Amino acid sequence: MHDNDITGIIEADKAHVWHHLTQHKAFETSDPRIIVEGKGIHVWDATGKKFLDAVSGGVWTVNVGYGRESIANVVRDQLIKLPYFAGAAGTIPGAQFAEKLIEKMPGMTRVYYNNSGSEANEKAFKMVRQIAHKRYGGKKHKILFRERDYHGTTIGTLSACGQPQRAEQYGPFAPGFVEVPHCLEYRAQWDLSGEAYGKRAADAIEEVILREGPETVGALCLEPVTAGGGVITPPPGYWERVQEICKKYDILLHIDEVVCGLGRTGTWFGYQNYGIKPDMVTMAKGVASGYAAIACLVTTEEVFNMFKDDAADPMSYFRDISTFGGCTAGPAAAMENMRIIEDENLLGNTLAMGERLMLRLEELKEKHAVVGDVRGKGLFCGAELVADRATKEPVAEALAQKVVAECGAQGVMIGVTNRSLPGFNNTLCLSPALIATPDDIDQIADSIDVALTRVFG
Ligand code: PMP
Repeated sequence: MHDNDITGIIEADKAHVWHHLTQHKAFETSDPRIIVEGKGIHVWDATGKKFLDAVSGGVWTVNVGYGRESIANVVRDQLIKLPYFAGAAGTIPGAQFAEKLIEKMPGMTRVYYNNSGSEANEKAFKMVRQIAHKRYGGKKHKILFRERDYHGTTIGTLSACGQPQRAEQYGPFAPGFVEVPHCLEYRAQWDLSGEAYGKRAADAIEEVILREGPETVGALCLEPVTAGGGVITPPPGYWERVQEICKKYDILLHIDEVVCGLGRTGTWFGYQNYGIKPDMVTMAKGVASGYAAIACLVTTEEVFNMFKDDAADPMSYFRDISTFGGCTAGPAAAMENMRIIEDENLLGNTLAMGERLMLRLEELKEKHAVVGDVRGKGLFCGAELVADRATKEPVAEALAQKVVAECGAQGVMIGVTNRSLPGFNNTLCLSPALIATPDDIDQIADSIDVALTRVFG
């Protein structure tokens, strides 16, 4: 048993831990990175090296930063009082957090607890399928998802995956999931720009609905800002049209806020930037900033009522459970996480720091021809790297990875879209904790500047 000797920890890890998203052959010639400690926006690895974490725990999660004793304290107290009870019963933190969450989501009323983003999305898909059975004789069961979007790692959510490299080795998939075109103007499928492009990209959804038959389509599931598919901020005019289309064909709008939720874009939820009224919203990562595993599926009262008002079939309530949706650490941590975001005005900080980061990225675009496009909303930003600005040919994934490594060598962890889209894993991802300071933003941008010079000259 290895205690705290680092060589032993690395040996134990190499011998027994199967890392996520990792080709383990790499560890025949190198060691895995072991992260030991975090404070504020920084983490330290086992060699003692300090990093500015510009990816909030690697995947847009630790929104309020590391070392929050107040979260640890409320979770500790709650675990001693009551760690768990299955969700057919209520708990104090479960009720309190649901009330607080709903305050931030006008139009929504019900919170269904889960423990991962994938699971929350699966549950939303199940609701759509059950509504189809209850109301439409099973017909309105199809779920539309968008090219480049990602909704999770299970077979159900991979059936709704717009990132082929994530899904390609795991079929066959569940039937009834249909892809609609992406809305990334930089890689426009039509010779249009601005609002005209936004409306056209939304119209493309209507075309799919008409092709499939509106009477077969139950829901449309979209990320408000696409994350791993290239940090795609929607073009103007897009969301208004999407909402109209959903209304016109009686299609539920499911917004996947797993990345944007709880402040990442400078509003509580990404969809709130665009005046959308969703029917279902899923969220996970930022809900408790990674201090506990919690995900929520939030619905309108109208959706909720479809599962309760069926006198003819009393067994047609939502016949679902999530064992760990009954862990109280999640909502207890989530409540304190929300208090911190409010009391420290982290939404305001996210807007201000996001603006600064975008300005710095624009400067990098001026300076380095390899930066083809920069995109972002709040502290959720990306820089797409291209070998040729005229043809927009993406740089090879290995070169984008080299930029990440060069930033790492300077003590700044950044990310890159990763093994998701063949030929298009070329967008640097920046999503520091919402507590980032101007100096942090400058350090991130300066390190990318140096890295781009080192890799591309
Ligand atoms: N939706 C989106 C938009 C995501 O980015 C992710 C995870 N990266 C998920 C869903 C799945 O969340 P989880 O890994 O918690 O299952």
